[in-house]
This record gives sequence, structure tokens and C-alpha cells, in this order.
Amino acid sequence: MRRFFLAGFTFLIFTIIVLPALIVRGLNLGVPAPIPPEEEAMGLVLKVFRVETGELVEMALKDYLVGVVAAEMPAEFAEEALKAQAVAARTFVLRRLKVYGGQGCDEHPGADICTDPSHCQGWLSVEEQQEKWGLVNYPRLRDKIAGAVDFTAGLVITHGGELIDAPYHSTCGGHTEDAAKVWGQEIPYLQGVACPYDFASPRFEEEISYPLPEVASRLDTEVALAAAGGLGGGVDMAVVAKSGSGRILTLRAGGKEFTGVEVRERLGLKSTNFQWRLEGENLIFKTIGYGHGVGLCQYGTNGMAQEGHTFREILQYYYTGVDIENFTD
Ligand SMILES: [Zn+2]
Ligand SMILES: [Zn+2]
Repeated sequence: MRRFFLAGFTFLIFTIIVLPALIVRGLNLGVPAPIPPEEEAMGLVLKVFRVETGELVEMALKDYLVGVVAAEMPAEFAEEALKAQAVAARTFVLRRLKVYGGQGCDEHPGADICTDPSHCQGWLSVEEQQEKWGLVNYPRLRDKIAGAVDFTAGLVITHGGELIDAPYHSTCGGHTEDAAKVWGQEIPYLQGVACPYDFASPRFEEEISYPLPEVASRLDTEVALAAAGGLGGGVDMAVVAKSGSGRILTLRAGGKEFTGVEVRERLGLKSTNFQWRLEGENLIFKTIGYGHGVGLCQYGTNGMAQEGHTFREILQYYYTGVDIENFTD
């Protein structure tokens, strides 16, 4: 009984807190930040809220970036991919910095950024890196990541002379998405692009199965279930609108309309690019890709790197019309 309660509680927390955060992660809408002067930015001390320990800690930009790349991208990825991730992570955090007019982390007052990967950017301490990679691999992988951060030192992504907001995600599933379709705001450099580079991703495709009553309760629509029982083989769910990239924008279930983002959140789906089928009493959802699909696709980034593209080419591919420049340029 206690186990069930705990599982239920964990699930509830996940549904209420983590999933919505996952869906909004990546965009910090606000006043565009000016590009900080290089000397200042290089010597920056960040106020980082560690969600694992509940502490607000100060750290140098480089230490922060190494921990972010370690957390957010497999260290085995190609070097150009790690460099692209380092530049995206640097741009992401600088844009949030309060001293440069950013909004900071809106979940943790006083922090520039937090280590919750579903809200700001993930981050691993040295101990956590050792645990993740093992003590034998740690020195090599740490050097590889530190090398990517050093190689790109000072480089940020800009659009029209301003730091961009640099969202990224695991696997777009063949095509990235326009920011407007996910967050409702048109952003010139966050336009969907074809991504024929991420088919090797282990997160390219996934299936998740729910008993029908659970789908009905998660969507809070009894009608869907009733109709499903009556239709024998089909369920009362239909796609109303899809984006050009194949993601579901609007869906009707049991007479109610939902956005794809809402359905993803309520059902805990990996993306809004999904199909479903009925098998017995269960509804099976098959998703393509993992994440919101906006901005840089990490597995696509590695695919491009393996094909010989540089980190600059990769960033300029996933972020439309941007420049890669030094803080001071
Ligand atoms: Zn945060
Ligand atoms: Zn992709």
C-alpha cells in the first residue's frame, strides 16, 4: 500500500511539476540581452542553484559550462558536437544573467540559473561526473569536454547583434519545430529545419501504453472512454491540426480540444509527434523524437559532426540566420 502511495505521489509530482517544466524549458522570453564585454564575462561568477542539494553556489563560467556539457550531452559524442553544445550552453546562461538584464532562473529567486535540466540546464559536479563515467574514463572524458569549452572560449550565438535564446533538445525525429508552434511566439532564428542526421538516436522512437481509463482520466474526459468502449477498435480521438514537421498542434478527444503540448504533458509523451492505436484495453502511443524539438537537435548535432561539419556550421544550421562571435565583436 505504502509503495503504491509513494509511486502515486512520485507520479503526481512528475506530472504536475516536472512535465510542464519540460515543455516550457528552453525559452526565456524577455528583453534581448546586450552582448556582455569579454573580460567581464570571462571572469564571471555565476549564482547557480543546485536542485540536488538545495544550495545556491557560486562558480566560474568555465566550471559551470563543463558541468553542463557533461550533464546535457553524451561525452562520447564527436568533438565538434561537444563544441556546439558548449557554445549553446554558454549563450543560454549568459542570456539569463541578471547582471546583463536577463531574468535569471524564475523558479529560484536569487539564482542566475538552476541545475534542473527540465527548467534551465542540467549540471554535474566532479563527483557526479566520476560516478556517471566511472573513475577510469573520467580523466579522458573530462579533458575532452573541457577541451570543447576551452576551444570555444568566449564564443556565443547572436542574431542581429543580440545574444539569442538557445534552446536545445535530445532528438527532433527528422525535423525541428518553429518556436511559434510550441511557445506561441514567432522567433526568427528558431524556425524548423529538416534534420536527416538523428536517425541513429536511441531516442528516435518510443512506445508507451496506457489502459483506456487512465487515458480518459489524464485527459479528464469521460467521453473518450465511453466512446472507445462503444466503437470497438477505435477511440474517440482525432488530430485536428498538425505542423509542417508532423507534430500534433491540436487534437480532439471525447469532444474536447487539446493542444499537442497539453496532451504530451498529460500523457507524459516524449514529443508531440505521435500516433496511437488500440490494443485490447490499452491505448499505445508511438512517439517520434524526444523533446520540444525547438533549436539545436543534439543527436542531429552528433550526426552532422560525424559527417564532417564544424560546430559553427552545426549551430548555423539549427539556429536560422545567426552569427557565432566573440563577446566583444
Ligand atoms: Zn531554473
Ligand atoms: Zn534532429
